[in-house]
Amino acid sequence: MKELWNPRIRGLEAYVPGEQPKDRRYIKLNTNENPYPPSPKALEAMREAVCADLRLYPDPECGQLIEALSRRFGLAREQLFVGNGSDEVLAMAFAAFFDPAGLPIIFADISYSFYPVYAAFYGVPTAPVPLREDFSLPVEDFLRPNGGVILCNPNAPTAMALPLAEVERIVAGNPGSVVLVDEAYVDFGGESAVGLIDKYPNLLVVRTTSKSYSLAGLRVGWAMGNEDLIAALNTVKNSFNSYTLDRVALAGAAAAIEDRDYFEECCRRVIATRERSRRELEALGFRVLPSAANFLFAAPPQPDAETVFRRLREEGVLVRYFKKPRIDGFLRISVGTDEEMDGLLAALGRI
Ligand SMILES: *Cc1c(COP(=O)(O)O)cnc(C)c1O
Repeated sequence: MKELWNPRIRGLEAYVPGEQPKDRRYIKLNTNENPYPPSPKALEAMREAVCADLRLYPDPECGQLIEALSRRFGLAREQLFVGNGSDEVLAMAFAAFFDPAGLPIIFADISYSFYPVYAAFYGVPTAPVPLREDFSLPVEDFLRPNGGVILCNPNAPTAMALPLAEVERIVAGNPGSVVLVDEAYVDFGGESAVGLIDKYPNLLVVRTTSKSYSLAGLRVGWAMGNEDLIAALNTVKNSFNSYTLDRVALAGAAAAIEDRDYFEECCRRVIATRERSRRELEALGFRVLPSAANFLFAAPPQPDAETVFRRLREEGVLVRYFKKPRIDGFLRISVGTDEEMDGLLAALGRI
């Protein structure tokens, strides 16, 4: 029944998001959402925005949010771009910087599974770089000729962070390519590359409010980089949809970014729970990779990961399992509240 489809779309294999089932109450540790609610100030700003003037289009320049980000990161407005979730920002970056007729773009073979999906969508060639046996990133392999570089730091789904000096080596070693650093999880323990932006015109850092700001439902992400890169992103956006963020999202995200105390307290709690959970999983015999994110990548001693995934689901605990080479022995477990993690550990005890 695909004969009416554009032939290019017919051949695509789209990204599969983690499940959001409604059939019962689950302890939901499968999509790396934050277990704590958004900032009360963000909720208040959104209530006000709903009542203000939804009759009117939102600001196409997203001034209120750009201003908040500018103050928070000490960057000029021209160095900031916002979009409908960082997935949209990534999709626009692919369109803006990666050439279907150019050299392959490079990213780790085990990384965010949306990168190969965007590459296929835009017809951009790729040359995945295998991570080492211990899942660390071989920096030298990111210094070969390429049509662009994507680093996910901390990486997903491994949770492992690359030190800033290594990120800088890759950015400095690729002056002719855009190096996109996806920092979706950086607030949970990674080192950000934001401080390198004024030094390297080829660096683009992408962030989201979905994880550390507890706003996955709002769909707000942003990019930070040299003003020429930002101008390219605006060209793509305004060739596609000038109103990617609605009035409610702009107000809520700006207030969340401004409420730094609340943000830091949530991150601190997630990190404390992560470290406790890691120790308890290790005590159960799991191999747990070092995590700088709000999730743990952990291999159960027995039975196999797929069986543990299925039995956890029966016990009402959702985690993520990837049936892929090299990582099919692992579960990706989002860090929930202490109570949710106790539920997970109790279920694992029964299994
Ligand atoms: C969650 C995630 C994103 C997408 O975030 P949204 O802003 O919700 O679209 C991007 N990159 C990585 C690595 C992620 O894990």
